[in-house]
Amino acid sequence: MSFEIVTLPCLADNYAFLLHENDTGTTALFDAPEEAPILRALAERGWSLDQVFLTHHHYDHVDGLAGILAEHSAEVIGNAQDADRLPPLHRKVTEGDMVPIGSGAARVMDVSGHTFGHLAFHVEAANAVFTADSLMALGCGRLFEGPADQMWASLQKLMALPPETLVCSGHEYTLANGRFAMTIEPGNPDLVARIDSVKAARAKGEPTVPSTLGQELATNPFLRGHVEEVQKSVGMTGQDAGAVFAKVRQAKDNF
Ligand code: ZN
Ligand code: FE
Repeated sequence: MSFEIVTLPCLADNYAFLLHENDTGTTALFDAPEEAPILRALAERGWSLDQVFLTHHHYDHVDGLAGILAEHSAEVIGNAQDADRLPPLHRKVTEGDMVPIGSGAARVMDVSGHTFGHLAFHVEAANAVFTADSLMALGCGRLFEGPADQMWASLQKLMALPPETLVCSGHEYTLANGRFAMTIEPGNPDLVARIDSVKAARAKGEPTVPSTLGQELATNPFLRGHVEEVQKSVGMTGQDAGAVFAKVRQAKDNF
């Protein structure tokens, strides 16, 4: 059982992902920002699409769907609780549901905060979690619809996954996220090293996504509210990690 993940740049700075299993010939798409690059990637590989997983209702994650479905008859999967804001769903899911993908499965995780009903999909067999605008490379999504404690609960679910898990997030924001991270934890050598490699990748036009959960745990300021330097940077020494997260999120909004 081996899965291949293809990272597809879409629109200005979005990512969609194809997850393909050779043995079963199964192909799943995670988010549909834009039809052309996704259809091209499928055609180049001779893959036909079986499933589309939608993380949340924002246009930059769903607007390519109609054009894709015009060429591929795929099952569309999204949050039952947010179905009225999503494109028509063939399978409505909620937290904890298991959706078969080839010989594996995607476990549905409710990671609300950026939007109400934002989902992540953990595919253990592929060692990957598709997080879109919840946990991002060196960042996390803006809190458009949920309070900080809801996003913190969501991030904690993701933080509990195995550290080698690939975090397939929805945007190429890593360089800008890194500039903010350096104002919060400049004394973190792992962060400094990561930003160097992010700069090098971007200079070559390469994506910095996916990252690994282990990298995020070591360098992402939104996951590091328990660290003294992070607490100190936002004036919250000794406070609990969730409260520090809320303050770091606020600082990023004003950055
Ligand atoms: Zn979004
Ligand atoms: Fe987005």
